[in-house]
Amino acid sequence: GQNVLAEDMPEWKKQSVGKAPQFGFAQKGSILEQRQSLPIFKLREELIKAVNENQILVVIGETGSGKTTQMTQYLAESGYTTKGRIGCTQPRRVAAMSVAKRVADEVGCLVGEEVGYAIRFEDCTSEDTVIKYMTDGMLLREALLDDKMSQYSVIMLDEAHERTIHTDVLFGLLKKCCAKRKDLRIIVTSATLDAEKFSTYFFECPIFTIPGRTFPVEVMYTKAPESDYLDAALITVMQIHLTEPEGDILLFLTGQEEIDTGCGILFERVKALGPSVPDLHILPVYSSLPSEMQTKIFEPAPPGSRKCVVATNIAEASLTIDGIYYVIDPGFAKQKVYNPKVGMDSLIVAPISQASARQRAGRAGRTGPGKCFRLYTEAAFKNEMLPTSVPEIQRTNLGMTCLTLKAMGINDLGPGGFDFMDPPPAQTLVTALEQLYNLNALDEEGLLTRLGRKMAEFPLEPPMSKMLIASVDLGCAEEILTIVAMLSAQNIFYRPKEKQGPADQKKAKFFQPEGDHLTLLTVYEAWKANNFSSPWCFENYLQARSLRRAQDVRKQLLTIMDRYRLEVTSAGRNFNRIRRAITSGFFFHAAKKDPQEGFKTLVENTPTYIHPSSSLFQRQPDWVVYHELVLTSKEYMRECVAIDPKWLVELAPRFFKQADARIMSKRKRMEKLEPLFDRFNEKDAWRLSKRRG
Ligand code: ADP
Ligand code: MG
Repeated sequence: GQNVLAEDMPEWKKQSVGKAPQFGFAQKGSILEQRQSLPIFKLREELIKAVNENQILVVIGETGSGKTTQMTQYLAESGYTTKGRIGCTQPRRVAAMSVAKRVADEVGCLVGEEVGYAIRFEDCTSEDTVIKYMTDGMLLREALLDDKMSQYSVIMLDEAHERTIHTDVLFGLLKKCCAKRKDLRIIVTSATLDAEKFSTYFFECPIFTIPGRTFPVEVMYTKAPESDYLDAALITVMQIHLTEPEGDILLFLTGQEEIDTGCGILFERVKALGPSVPDLHILPVYSSLPSEMQTKIFEPAPPGSRKCVVATNIAEASLTIDGIYYVIDPGFAKQKVYNPKVGMDSLIVAPISQASARQRAGRAGRTGPGKCFRLYTEAAFKNEMLPTSVPEIQRTNLGMTCLTLKAMGINDLGPGGFDFMDPPPAQTLVTALEQLYNLNALDEEGLLTRLGRKMAEFPLEPPMSKMLIASVDLGCAEEILTIVAMLSAQNIFYRPKEKQGPADQKKAKFFQPEGDHLTLLTVYEAWKANNFSSPWCFENYLQARSLRRAQDVRKQLLTIMDRYRLEVTSAGRNFNRIRRAITSGFFFHAAKKDPQEGFKTLVENTPTYIHPSSSLFQRQPDWVVYHELVLTSKEYMRECVAIDPKWLVELAPRFFKQADARIMSKRKRMEKLEPLFDRFNEKDAWRLSKRRG
């Protein structure tokens, strides 16, 4: 027994066998059998041969066939790690972490040893790491520092069909990199039918197909459109549980809040049925779920009971859960789209594509014949859903992407410049360049400024990195670092439904009259003064986990600040400096109180309101800058800070100017300091266009 297993240990692991505990091997039996039963296993030699012989290879295969977890190991076992690491990108953080954990288990090491992962603000790798899973965004940042990708012998762009903006940019970069490094191997994997397109783009490279092992899935549609898909979905779960034979359920919902609500309701309904009904184990899955919870979804339900996984899009292809026989597909997912009205991306709930719907249904046929319940009509599927999703690069803000590319010396982003698989719309590109110009990251010629170069070093959206760098000169980097970290960490305040009153009272104690950014700063400093205590968080209705994340983010950003010798000093109680720093990054998000009601944004005159949770809700100052807009019943500004309008003209002279006395009305002349967004007077004059000068 033992010997055979040791024989099967991967070559590259054997060297460090000495330090692995013996019982680890005995447990490996079942994992090994599982590995060998995967469809990809029989193709191991062929696959390696194909990689040896081709610099670029497209690999397609059903989800769950073993692409993500096995190929990296096969390559490592056949010697690719002697020349560098094997990198594998994932579009999602959770997938990168979860897959690294699984592969570490299979290899018999801890995450961060031979197998590790890197995601934004979290690097779980070491010198020993030879298989590295990471988000595609991380690899893109690495490319900024080293465009030859020297640390890798193989790079696998996994889940390429998702077409995230980062993967799309990596396509172009790696294509170029291949010419410079003949020894580098690129593998592009995809679960769907885009293989031909990928191959054509990558110099007509071969396509390697892993035959799937799937069972038929019976697809059911609703007869009429559902007005409330959440309600319909929960009813369907209960119906399946009460009437269908054994087998686990997978329900797709759009986000954390919806999933938590749905799970809560399901839990109550099952409980209400009493002990005569078999157990239903309800397991939420979304990206911000703690990792110990995430591993639970892979554990089989105890005999006689059923598991119901309620997941975001992540379970569509990135994670494979065995034992699913029933899929419920409401037909929606959260999508990032650029909202030109407010000049930023927002997440909206949008219908999925036909390709996604097929992929979701396929999840039911992995273990045996399954059923998929689509909560929409067949006509809607055929006539209303797009065949495939629009790639992210064609629908989101390109500010950060342009900045990164410019920092890599890629200046021409227009047609014929960078080799995009699907080029972004010209207008989106222009908007992004304008934004960077207005932030002073680009000069009049569109070339990167020194400020822009520094901004590119930070894994932050341009307005955030601008605010951070501006804080150095304003002498408040200590505070802005905390604010950026707190904004990035999100969900700082805990507000359970049954205790909203007490939660709000506690929160109000931290309120600062200047605005929410300062409130966040105050919370962090109070936490620090209480020795970063978790019980203290609990008492104050704060999420300890989010605060700890903020602390990590802060540390990471501080490292970058130190690396570039950016001085970190404190403004003490001088909140004006802090507010000016925020304004210098977020002046696009200025809004002015409307005489009638609420506020109007300066850029598009969109009506908005201060969010009721804001510390400025009572005060309603005349001028604010907001961090983001959320659309619920109204367009709300979340995280606002009160500003002096003078600062806008001072800090963003390329964007605002003072009203021209000759064309001002009498009323306007009386408030002479009012900054006018030029386009109200001279259309487009503020744009980075030929009309200037
Ligand atoms: P692919 O990338 O082709 O979709 P994966 O390599 O992700 O496939 O998964 C292969 C198999 O490994 C799955 O079918 C599943 O059985 C198993 N597996 C993957 N991740 C886990 C995990 N975290 N826990 C248990 N089993 C897993
Ligand atoms: Mg995969």
